[in-house]
Amino acid sequence: MRNGSALLGAFAGYMLADLLTGNELALTFILTITNFIAVLTTLSILLYVKSKLRSFSGGPVIVYPYIFALICGTFLGALFAINTIPYVPHTFMSTKQLMVDFINWWSGEFLNAVIVLPLVLAFPKFIEIKNFFTDKRSLSLNVFDTFPFFAVILSMILTHTYYGPGALLYPLATLIWAASVYSLFNIAVINSFVCLALYHSVSFLYFYDTTNSFLKEITSIRIGLAILGLATIILCIISQNRKLLFKEVYYLANHDTLTETMNRRSFIKLSERLLSNKKYKQACFLMLDIDHFKNLNDGYGHYAGDIVLKKFAELVKENLRNEDLFCRHGGEEFVVLLANVDKAEAFMIAERIRIHLAQTSINIHQQQPIHITVSMGISHTHLPTILDLQQLINSADTALYQAKNNGRNNVVLA
Ligand code: GH3
Ligand code: MG
Ligand code: MG
Repeated sequence: MRNGSALLGAFAGYMLADLLTGNELALTFILTITNFIAVLTTLSILLYVKSKLRSFSGGPVIVYPYIFALICGTFLGALFAINTIPYVPHTFMSTKQLMVDFINWWSGEFLNAVIVLPLVLAFPKFIEIKNFFTDKRSLSLNVFDTFPFFAVILSMILTHTYYGPGALLYPLATLIWAASVYSLFNIAVINSFVCLALYHSVSFLYFYDTTNSFLKEITSIRIGLAILGLATIILCIISQNRKLLFKEVYYLANHDTLTETMNRRSFIKLSERLLSNKKYKQACFLMLDIDHFKNLNDGYGHYAGDIVLKKFAELVKENLRNEDLFCRHGGEEFVVLLANVDKAEAFMIAERIRIHLAQTSINIHQQQPIHITVSMGISHTHLPTILDLQQLINSADTALYQAKNNGRNNVVLA
């Protein structure tokens, strides 16, 4: 929309659509300008504040610029309409009730915007659509996830079968449910459907009324529906934002941020769960300690030491299975729990890690490549075991001390 020819094209499109519906040229021209004022004002404000509706991380405050832009855009459009349309020949507006016409026009535009704009702004990117259809998890339907959707449909059926002023509120609870479960785009779709269907059923009530009061009721219904729609969108953003934050906090509570391995807390929790799982017949603990790490810090600085720790964790991970538990026990000491692995296999895995590390040079910008070695102790247990987790770790730790005493860069089985 930012370039001129696109604007002209859109203008011609609007004009053509209106002319085809049988409007006269002068009126069509004014209506098109009215639409343009509303759309361009809204877009300009949104571009100015550069707000992103799709990034939930900003929380519900990111919706405020949209509401502000919508109100301003539709307000200016309606203001232009009531000051021009009554003076066009063969018009449908008179100068007798400008205030009523203004509110009527504004509320219509506002509701339209609340129905359409979230659909456009939350529309998935091409890559997201592609991922959706290629990712098996997103295609497999969880029956429970469909419940809020069907609840919304049921509440909408109720508004049609038992209508009255209260019908505006029938879908409130089901929309809240849906907004706390579905993605923003899905909610935008459901929201548009609910607003349109509800508009139809509730305004049906007032069709018999006289023109003026009909206008007043219809205006109030539109504003009420727009507020319901906005509230649903805001709630969905709050819910998505909360889910994202929870994921982030959960990750931070369970991982070491430097090496992205588990922290002790989650390692202990998951290890205890694993050791008491009847599925497993045996398990091994590896205790790993980087050799002469203090010298490395002293020689290259702590920053280099941090990078080496990070790289070390990556290299160890490359030699583990996804289900193995890998934890930074403290400083430059790490511990691994291998489930269903016997002593010989654990020794082989440890040797593989040791050799892999010894053969890898770690590059830190503008410094000489760094070489590190690691010493390891292994403890083994059959499951179920009478030993507790700490005893098994202590046993691996004692073996590690032996490995250090043997001259480092080697593996010892407890
Ligand atoms: P050994 O071969 O006997 O294990 O010798 P070492 O020098 O590796 O062992 P020591 O326990 O004496 O030193 C460990 C060092 O690890 C001391 C400490 O400064 C460093 N260290 C611990 N945590 C971090 C960290 O997060 N970043 C950096 N850069 N260094 C750390
Ligand atoms: Mg060490
Ligand atoms: Mg140490």
